Amino acid sequence: MEQLYEGYCEQTPVHRLHERFGTANVYGRTSQSILNPATGYITAYDFTLNPYRGCQYGCSYCYAAAFSPNPKMRRDWGNWVIVKENAAELLAKELQGWYRKHPDRPPYIYMSTVTDPYQPIETQKKLTQSLLEVMIEYCPILVIQTRSPMVTRDIPLFQRFKKLRVNMSIPTGSETVRKDFEPQSPSLKARLHAIQTIARSIDPEKGYVPKLSVTITPTLPTRAEDMNGFVERLRGIDRIVLQRFHDPSTRSLVATTRDDAIALKQKYQWWYEDECQSYENFKATLQQRLPETEVLENQQGFGYD
Ligand code: SF4
Repeated sequence: MEQLYEGYCEQTPVHRLHERFGTANVYGRTSQSILNPATGYITAYDFTLNPYRGCQYGCSYCYAAAFSPNPKMRRDWGNWVIVKENAAELLAKELQGWYRKHPDRPPYIYMSTVTDPYQPIETQKKLTQSLLEVMIEYCPILVIQTRSPMVTRDIPLFQRFKKLRVNMSIPTGSETVRKDFEPQSPSLKARLHAIQTIARSIDPEKGYVPKLSVTITPTLPTRAEDMNGFVERLRGIDRIVLQRFHDPSTRSLVATTRDDAIALKQKYQWWYEDECQSYENFKATLQQRLPETEVLENQQGFGYD
């Protein structure tokens, strides 16, 4: 196998699956485990579940880059992805193990924390879909975190869960800002359309009604001319989650690991000159205009309930 990422392959056996998928080099590997104990920000959950390692979206502020296997891959964040090929098989085994110890309590699972479960390679691998099918059988309480409209592919599975929340990540209402901070990610229009499609497609007569959140995290600038349209398109969502890009009062990893995002803040001085005030104004707008929607901040917003 071509040693594109020297230092990684020597320690962990992976094999090259494709030359490229989009701009990403794609690898496969057999994992030892798939459910990881949840800690830190999402300590309310039992496990995190990441079907892939690496993420083709490569957002400029992504803290997950810090967990890359080596410095070269960290610098090349967004241009590689590793497929955990035995994920579904492992998940079934690990959930059986959980229920042997906790027969009456389903585990809380957060999918995903350091990758996007619906990044482009999922169209081909369908790994996330295979995990959902396993989970339907074992009934965990699941949160799906994504910024991909591909999530609508699995709407038919969502109503078969006992408990499920879908978090759509939309950190700004301005497409120009999105293109600066996360140029490889899907358009805002496609994401808003996707979450509204899920809301419209759910039939309470046909099963469980999933909860729907929009996570504006980190809260990036939204231009004044885009504000009204953005807020209107959030109407009807159960929950909005906010989190300041850089909160000096916490040890948030957000944006601390990627210089690109920090440099971009210079371009948006009209927002960042007084980030605290910009954020508070935005929060107040949401609260006033969307009184029927729960607006939560930081860790509190990422809980299931
Ligand atoms: S989609 Fe999420 S995991 Fe992927 S690069 Fe962006 S912030 Fe990171």
